[in-house]
Amino acid sequence: MFRLPVCPHCKTIYRYKDVKKKSVEKECNCYHCGKKFRVSKKKILILFLIIALITAIFDVFALYMIAGTNFAGLMITNIIAVTAGFLLVPYFVEFKK
Ligand SMILES: [Zn+2]
Repeated sequence: MFRLPVCPHCKTIYRYKDVKKKSVEKECNCYHCGKKFRVSKKKILILFLIIALITAIFDVFALYMIAGTNFAGLMITNIIAVTAGFLLVPYFVEFKK
């Protein structure tokens, strides 16, 4: 599941940093073979939906089960979860022909 995307034409493996750069674009040229490919972000949406779901469940659980949970603490955990999500974005980018 945690694999960085490869060029659909020549299977060149992209590094984390390069994928992050390309993830903001719609179409790219491969630095190796020069052919064009699309940058698919569908899986990123799924990633963030999962994170939203997990944090929502966690928040509800913490509020009801753990005595003395404060709002600031929950906000911090949520921010950490979202930040972790952003760090995982390159693993959910897909390169398509
Ligand atoms: Zn290529």
